[in-house]
Amino acid sequence: MEKREMLYEGKAKQIFKTEKEDELIVYYKDDATAFDGEKKGQIYNKGIMNNRISNFFFEYLEDRGIKTHYLQDINQRETLVRSVEIIPIEVVMRNIAAGSLSRRLGLEEGTSLPEPVLEFYYKDDDLGDPLINESHIKILDLASPGQLAEISEMAGKINELLVDFLQERGIDLVDFKLEFGLTGDQEIILADEISPDTCRFWDSETGEKLDKDRFRRDLGDVEAAYQEMLRRITGNEEM
Ligand code: UDP
Repeated sequence: MEKREMLYEGKAKQIFKTEKEDELIVYYKDDATAFDGEKKGQIYNKGIMNNRISNFFFEYLEDRGIKTHYLQDINQRETLVRSVEIIPIEVVMRNIAAGSLSRRLGLEEGTSLPEPVLEFYYKDDDLGDPLINESHIKILDLASPGQLAEISEMAGKINELLVDFLQERGIDLVDFKLEFGLTGDQEIILADEISPDTCRFWDSETGEKLDKDRFRRDLGDVEAAYQEMLRRITGNEEM
């Protein structure tokens, strides 16, 4: 495929057109941001590690019946994906209390939740991605009730698959964020990425954080944590 002009630049990725209308190239950067872009930095080789980790998860999910935008690995930092119209809802699934859930509900970080918690956030930087509910989604017309039901079901299934996969590798999946998109024929598929940038991964034995919280909270050893997650997930040391 041919890499053409840049269509969009986000905080951690760039998106390029290709010669095909319905295919895009994602380029993973090393840039890291937190707290609505207030904190900025770089995580050495993060782009390479997230590209590998996310592609691994997407292939894993595809093999188990989840439709995703993933098409083909191109190189260390680039992946070919299906072009979609991103549904402006950040879908968060949680198994253990942490982060904003702990703050909002006064639950101590690390508290196991009796069942997975599903949340929706309105993907809008100017508004600071506020928490929204089904009524809000309806009045803002972000997705139809049928689409939202489908997204919720997919998120629950993805959670089960990832929890099982990671448990076998000594990782607790605390929470994670998903984004979905609509294809040209209105099919809902999983888009964006699944990586230590978008998930909380805790070592099951030690509780050590192996995700972006190391950057957000200045815990140090950020690169080593991403590297360790790459190793646990793919079983491979090298990038
Ligand atoms: N998350 C994300 N992008 C966002 C907000 C959250 O990928 O813009 C992920 C985050 O990495 C975590 C989960 O969603 O795995 C829940 O995040 P939370 O609401 O607890 O946010 P925070 O504590 O970072 O404010």
